[in-house]
Amino acid sequence: MKKQSQIKEFEARLKAVDRRVNRSLFVFLGIMLIISVIIERTDLNYSRVSFGFVFLLVAYLVFAIITIITGKTKVAKEFGIVCSVCGRTPKAFFMVQAMRKKKCSYCGGEINA
Ligand SMILES: [Zn+2]
Repeated sequence: MKKQSQIKEFEARLKAVDRRVNRSLFVFLGIMLIISVIIERTDLNYSRVSFGFVFLLVAYLVFAIITIITGKTKVAKEFGIVCSVCGRTPKAFFMVQAMRKKKCSYCGGEINA
């Protein structure tokens, strides 16, 4: 993957993963808003409700992180981006930097891209 156009396509695919997660955040916030409106109208125990919200938030964050990692790793594998020394795929959150520097985020070896 040496061509500039392929690198652009790769970065666009990574951005698409971010966009998917951003969209899910809006959906999540919308659901939280609806739930809080419903709770306002009922007579639920306050501490139990806030525990529920914290739980939902943590669950969402875990979902978002897993989606980013699996999504970006999948894109990298599709484009054949691996370290020429240790053979690992660059970490999802440092994928773009790893590509630009062509340096592995695990061992510092050269990225085969
Ligand atoms: Zn490496």
